[in-house]
Amino acid sequence: MKRYFLGLAANYDAEDRRAQLFSLGRDEDRTDLAKFLERKYDGKAILTKNGRSALALALKAYFKEGDRIIVNGFTCFAVYEAVKEVGLVPVFADITRKDLNFSIETLEKVLKMSEEKPRGIIIQNTFGNPVDIEAIEKFAKENDLVIIEDLAHATGVRYPDGREVGTVGVATALSFGKEKSIDTISGGAVILRHPCLNEIEAPSKAPKLSDHLRARFYPTFGAACRALSHIHLGGVLMKILIKIHWVERSADNKLDCERKISKFEARLALRQIKSLKRSGEVPLREFYLVKERDLVLKKLAEKGYYFGGFWYEKPVSPERYYKKVHFPEKECPNAVFISEHIINFPNYYTRRILEPARKIVQDYLIKEGE
Ligand SMILES: *Cc1c(COP(=O)(O)O)cnc(C)c1O
Repeated sequence: MKRYFLGLAANYDAEDRRAQLFSLGRDEDRTDLAKFLERKYDGKAILTKNGRSALALALKAYFKEGDRIIVNGFTCFAVYEAVKEVGLVPVFADITRKDLNFSIETLEKVLKMSEEKPRGIIIQNTFGNPVDIEAIEKFAKENDLVIIEDLAHATGVRYPDGREVGTVGVATALSFGKEKSIDTISGGAVILRHPCLNEIEAPSKAPKLSDHLRARFYPTFGAACRALSHIHLGGVLMKILIKIHWVERSADNKLDCERKISKFEARLALRQIKSLKRSGEVPLREFYLVKERDLVLKKLAEKGYYFGGFWYEKPVSPERYYKKVHFPEKECPNAVFISEHIINFPNYYTRRILEPARKIVQDYLIKEGE
């Protein structure tokens, strides 16, 4: 078998594509998903059109405008967008090379530097690598920080102390977006686990037809582009599909707290969260820090591994939105270094398929202290 694959929607198999295209959703699917989440995470669940809207609702529920909130210094623009949507001020904390999360040391630094005292902290568990939750919870308590958990990377993962991710903070935000640990192309949910400071309204508007169709067709379009890739047409077709907005890049999915999740997405998300097929056992993305990244990517591509779309090429990604963030590069040197040297593998390829890719990477690894 030719091991030639583009990264385009390669995580959806034929069954996923069929389910995405043809699953009929009913109103009960939304209720069933919400009920399941309420039992699992012990709070009030609200379903949303994507993860960033869920995170925005979580923030809206527990903070007031102008509050500062600590954010992992290596993240997706979606998080920044949610923070700004609610009028909060993000305070980025630098990360460690070990797990790509902030540490007590970097959090302490942030508290010292911040002009005003932050009131909250978003825990991200980057790529499914859990934080040392006991230490962070203690730190949060001592400093009066309200904890929000963002589960986009880590649904089903357990913290070192055995508790499941999403059962610690006042609120838990889930994303069902592309390549997230639960993936129905779009969709999200927030579970409010404590009495809220501000009242939250559940989304009441039906999903936009265009969003609905895009979610239905994305895996099929991806498969078509992959099928055409050996005659070099796949990339061209994908570019056209993006241009005419039939395919949307993940970062461009709009934040909108008033739109509901599509019913079929609720149905598929429930199925996935019950089996946690794509998460829980393996990290969302296995990562390496390498020298000469462009060369490594080229070598990987020669062997048929297209990992160009790695996470994250900037401390807040994608690059085309990075300037808006005014990221404090001086205060987060690790995040800057890591974003220049990281490569990572999506978790939907088997260990065996990835073995040759790992071998290529080995020769270029950056050692500790380098
Ligand atoms: C992708 C992502 C989200 C939210 O994603 P949506 O695309 O809005 O569903 C939230 N947090 C992190 C860390 C993410 O990577």
